[in-house]
Amino acid sequence: MSDLKLCQGPECHTYFTKDRVKGPQGHKTNQTRRRSSLIWNEFCDTRCYNDWFSRYGTQAVNHFGRLKEVKHLTEQNAWTKNYDWRGNADESHRHYFLNTITKERRSLTEAQYNDSNYTLNTGE
Ligand SMILES: [Zn+2]
Repeated sequence: MSDLKLCQGPECHTYFTKDRVKGPQGHKTNQTRRRSSLIWNEFCDTRCYNDWFSRYGTQAVNHFGRLKEVKHLTEQNAWTKNYDWRGNADESHRHYFLNTITKERRSLTEAQYNDSNYTLNTGE
């Protein structure tokens, strides 16, 4: 099955579970897990996730940009997305922006809610 993904845990193959033992009779080895669905799209379980982060976390933070100064929550960056749940089938959930400082609410479409690039926040 080609759509199985390999767990990226650097030690995955060293853990002993029945499902890691693969291969032809007499030549079985402990192998990296393959799954159609992985945690964070990369890891078979939290142990493998933690192994990866222990080994590569600092490099990853340095690569993508280390935080060098304190961030401040202000009215300009306090917008979060939320919705009021509606159980009724012919009524959809009511999505909105909420400013966690001013408590102002602004309506939002479901598409805007799902669009991770859509924000009212200006600045970090
Ligand atoms: Zn794994």
